[in-house]
Amino acid sequence: MDGDDLLQRLRDRDFRLTAQRRVVAEALAGAHVHRSAEEVHAAAAQRLPEISRATVYNTLNELVALGEVREVQLGGRSRLYDPNPTREHQHLVCDGCGAVVDVIPREQPALEPGDAHGYAVDRAEVTFRGLCPNCR
Ligand SMILES: [Zn+2]
Ligand SMILES: [Zn+2]
Repeated sequence: MDGDDLLQRLRDRDFRLTAQRRVVAEALAGAHVHRSAEEVHAAAAQRLPEISRATVYNTLNELVALGEVREVQLGGRSRLYDPNPTREHQHLVCDGCGAVVDVIPREQPALEPGDAHGYAVDRAEVTFRGLCPNCR
């Protein structure tokens, strides 16, 4: 999926990539990446030991505000940051080890107009749960 492109997308929109912002973006690079702020900080600190939690949190908030990263709540304790916000996708989560995979179901979930209770619905989040091949 598109996660690899996060750095490229940020370059394309002239987001100023300071060393701190770069290591945060790099911590979210790759396919099927969903990391908590703590995990992003740990990965960023391996590249740039002096980076503070506050800087990581602020950068994540900026990336979310730009629409380049999406916060998702997949039933664990913490929100996860997902660098693949541009393509509509759902999640497959392992109940054993917590591994998360991006999936695109053939049919997107939808509500009949009569079931929307007057809400202007702009998206649906579906989590498929089970056991991954390692945990089965
Ligand atoms: Zn598993
Ligand atoms: Zn995802």
